[in-house]
Amino acid sequence: MGIAFYPNDGEDAETLLKNALSAMLRAKKTGRGNYQLYDSRSRNKLLDLIELDNYMHHALEKNEFVLHYQPQVDITTGRIVGTEALIRWNNPKLGIISPAKFIPLAEENGLILPIGDWVLKTACAQNKKWMELGYDPIYISVNISALQIHQSDFVDKISQVLYETQMEAKYLELEITESIAMEDTETRIKILEVLRNMGVRIAIDDFGTGYSSLSYLRRFQLTSLKIDQSFTRELVSNEKDAAIVSTIIAIGQNLNLKIIAEGVETQEQLEFLRKKKCDNIQGYLYSRPVSSDELEKLLKNPPDLSEL
Ligand code: C2E
Ligand code: MG
Ligand code: MG
Repeated sequence: MGIAFYPNDGEDAETLLKNALSAMLRAKKTGRGNYQLYDSRSRNKLLDLIELDNYMHHALEKNEFVLHYQPQVDITTGRIVGTEALIRWNNPKLGIISPAKFIPLAEENGLILPIGDWVLKTACAQNKKWMELGYDPIYISVNISALQIHQSDFVDKISQVLYETQMEAKYLELEITESIAMEDTETRIKILEVLRNMGVRIAIDDFGTGYSSLSYLRRFQLTSLKIDQSFTRELVSNEKDAAIVSTIIAIGQNLNLKIIAEGVETQEQLEFLRKKKCDNIQGYLYSRPVSSDELEKLLKNPPDLSEL
């Protein structure tokens, strides 16, 4: 709930409502189920958000979104096994806007649905194209928001995309967060089950940062867990992070899940992960997220893991 007072926060209904909305957005940011009073200092931020929202409504039709791709690499063989599709928004007036900034807003205004459809289609088509060019088949990993999975026709949409792009289901991976996996409704469980039975891979993104319930690990046939980069970051200097990472890797080995470490930036981190028998890595050390053309260069001439 957002609260604005007459007359200090506005002298007419329109201004009061707008300022109450600003306070509400702030309330939502601090976690749901609370209220915030309007604070004139947050005014500029609200204007930013409204501007962003306006532009976002036209971004799809104006082709302002692009996907970048970041390789996921097998630590043992050094081969690229998959790529994660990461969206970028390039607006002529606002410049390049990071997904961390606009995805939460797209989840608020509902545009995540058409944007998510576009991401799925574009990513699968691109991955299929690389196969057709003769590169060894790799999977494409796509981030999925809670709202997308809540659509009653989500499974149909996935089938449709696979049919249109003629890409086998085993080359598609969906990245979901722990909170989605934990939603214990029958429908949610069914949807993930149906997708797994189709052959689609399911990965848990940012593993270890959500609510700490592990019960979903036995409920679904997951494919992989992605160790959140906040744990990878201080792996070498912080004993607790090292312990957490080792434990996640052990969970993966015991439950037969592939473990991917995100945010790998240094050789020291790679060495640690190699010693602990982590399966895959993703991070700046091997490559930043790059355009499809750049990614193709990496497929053509893959860098050697030991020479980075
Ligand atoms: P994520 O799915 O956890 O993606 C990993 C983020 O870490 C990406 O940020 C990536 O650029 C960044 N990253 C990769 N390697 C390194 C590294 O070595 N060091 C550091 N410091 N960072 C690294 P990005 O591209 O800004 O994406 C942020 C988040 O936005 C993603 O987190 C994901 O949750 C969301 N997102 C991105 N694309 C989509 C999309 O198409 N749909 C949805 N629903 N969310 C998306
Ligand atoms: Mg991800
Ligand atoms: Mg992540």
